[in-house]
Amino acid sequence: MMELGHMPDTTERGLVQSRWTPGAPEEVRFLGMSAGIKPKESVPVTAYRCSKCGYLELYASPA
Ligand SMILES: [Zn+2]
Repeated sequence: MMELGHMPDTTERGLVQSRWTPGAPEEVRFLGMSAGIKPKESVPVTAYRCSKCGYLELYASPA
């Protein structure tokens, strides 16, 4: 079964491992402006790459 989720991006803390979060992203607004999306519980995303063709498979399993 495939479950809807999203992968929030962080740009201010340097390099971080991508994470998968259940459900659709919820926008946070501050003073009428977008202030990113709501942080929620998430699991790290692991990417496997085919060494022949570069095809990627992503897994979001709890550690
Ligand atoms: Zn391949």
